[in-house]
Amino acid sequence: MTTRTDALENPYRLARTVVPSAYRLRLRPDFATATFTGTVEISLAITQPVRAIVLNAIELDVEPATLVVAGRSLRSGTPVLDGEFETAAFNFDEELPVGAATLVVAFRGILNDQLRGFYRSTFDDEHGAPHVIATTQFATTDARRAFPCWDDPAVKATFQVTLEVPESLAAFANTRELASRSLGEGYREVTFAESMVMSSYLVAFVVGDFEASPETVVAGTTLRVIYPVGKGHLIEWATEAAVHALEFFSDYFAIAYPGDKVDLIAIPDFAAGAMENLGLITFREADLLIDPDTASIPELERVALVVNHELAHMWFGDLVTMEWWEGIWLNEAFATFMESICTDHFRPEWQKWVRFQPQREAAFAVDAQHSTRPIEFRVVSPDECRGMFDVLTYIKGCAVLRMLEQYLGATTFRDGIRAYLRRHSYANAVTNDLWRALEEASGQPVGSIMDTWILQGGFPLVRVERDVVHQEPFSYGAPTGSSSIGTSWKVPLSVRSLDNASNSKHLLDHDSATIPVSGTTIVNGGGWGFFRTAYASEQLRALSTRLGDLDA
Ligand SMILES: [Zn+2]
Repeated sequence: MTTRTDALENPYRLARTVVPSAYRLRLRPDFATATFTGTVEISLAITQPVRAIVLNAIELDVEPATLVVAGRSLRSGTPVLDGEFETAAFNFDEELPVGAATLVVAFRGILNDQLRGFYRSTFDDEHGAPHVIATTQFATTDARRAFPCWDDPAVKATFQVTLEVPESLAAFANTRELASRSLGEGYREVTFAESMVMSSYLVAFVVGDFEASPETVVAGTTLRVIYPVGKGHLIEWATEAAVHALEFFSDYFAIAYPGDKVDLIAIPDFAAGAMENLGLITFREADLLIDPDTASIPELERVALVVNHELAHMWFGDLVTMEWWEGIWLNEAFATFMESICTDHFRPEWQKWVRFQPQREAAFAVDAQHSTRPIEFRVVSPDECRGMFDVLTYIKGCAVLRMLEQYLGATTFRDGIRAYLRRHSYANAVTNDLWRALEEASGQPVGSIMDTWILQGGFPLVRVERDVVHQEPFSYGAPTGSSSIGTSWKVPLSVRSLDNASNSKHLLDHDSATIPVSGTTIVNGGGWGFFRTAYASEQLRALSTRLGDLDA
C-alpha cells in the first residue's frame, strides 16, 4: 500500500523543509568538448528554519549557491555532494528564515553518451553526412544529471528553459518558443515559455539538425512532428494517429490537453520506445517515422499504439502523476489500456482487443508461476521500480483494468477516470485515489476488489458445476519454496446464457457462490475476467457445441 507519509521516511526523498515552485533554467551545450554549462534560478519556499538547502544532483560540477531571501543575498559554502543519495547540500552560515526565497546555482556537466540525462548522439543523413544532437531522457531520476533540482515526482513546479545553441541547429523544449536572438560567435539564445506545474522527470529539450512539420491545430492545441533532416516523407502516418488521439483523449477525459503545444520528435539514438515528456514526446525513430506505402499493418499498428500510449500519458502521468515510483505500474497499465481503447476507435477493423489476447496469454503464463509478483509493491529507492517495467505491469495491469471497466460499465468507468483527473490535476495521486473515484462513480467496492488483483500475485481458477462457482489459486505445479500466488480474489463474473439474451454481473467474493444458470451458460462473458475457467464435464460438452456463439 502507498501512503503519503512514505515521503518523510524515505532516504531517497528530499526533506520538504524547502520546496521549489518555479525553475528558470539556462543551458549551453558545447558539442566540441561534450560538456554543458548552466545556471538555474529556483523560486522556493522555506517552510521551516534551516541552515542548509539540499537538492538532487549527480555528475554535475556545482558551484556555491546564492540565496536571495528577505531582501538579502547570502552565499553558501562549497556544496557537499552525496554520491549514494545523489544530492548536493548548500550550507549557509546562518539560519534561513521561513518564507519565499530564490536560489541561484551555476554548474557544469557532461554531455554524456549514456542515453540518459542530457546526452549527445550522432546520426548520418541520407548523403552519409554526420550530424550531432543533444537530447534528454530524465525518467526516472536523471534530471539531476542535467541540473540541480528536487528530482521527485511529487515535488512539482513550473520550468522555464532557455537554451544557448549553435546558430545552425534547431532547439525544442516542453513549451512554445518565445524568442530567439543571436549571441554572436555562432551561438543563439532560444527562450521557451514557462511550463505548467509538473514533475522534473517530464522536463525535456532537444538540440540538433531537425525539421518540423507545419502546425496542425487539434482540439485547440498545435501539433507538430519533428524529425531528423531529410525524413519529412515519413511523418504522415504518425500525424494522422496523433490528430485522432488528441481529439479522442480530450473528449474521453473531458479535460483540454494541459500543455501549450505537442511536438512528437524522432530521436536517432533512444534507449526506450518513447517518453511522455509533456509537450515534447521523444520517440525511437522506428516508433514514429514510417512509410505507409511499404509498411505492414503490424508496423503501422505499432506506431499508432506508441503515439496513443504517449499522448494518453499527457493526462494520466503528466497532469496527474504518481506520488512515488511504486505508482509507475498504474501509469503504464493505464496508458496501455488507453492506447488500446484509442486504437480500437482509430481503426476498428484492426480489432485491437482481440489482438490483445495473445499478449494476455503471456501475462497468464508468467503469473501462473510461483515466482510471479504482485503488480504493485513497495519501492524505496527509485531504482527498485525498474522491476516493474514488465509484462505484469503493462499487460496484466491493462487486463485487470479492462476487467474492471467491463464490470463497472464503460461509461461509469470513464466518469470515474474524469473525476480522478479533475481532482488531482497538477498534483499527485496514489493507486487508492483512483479506486476511490471509481467507487464514487459506480457505488461498487472497487478498492477491495482491485486490492486482490494488484497487491497479490497470480489469479484464480474458477470451477463451475451447474449453478455453483468456486475459486482456487491457479498455478503450474506445487511450489518448491515460497509462492507469490495469492489465495483468494474478488472475481468479477459476467454470467451469460447462450440460450437467451440474459447477461448479468456477479462478484465472486468468497470461495464459492451460486449464480443464475439458464441453459448453456458461461461465467466469463466477453472473456475479460483475468482468470481461468473449468466447467463440469456435461456443461463443457454442451458448451463445445456452441463455440460459434461466443465472442471472438
Ligand atoms: Zn508509458
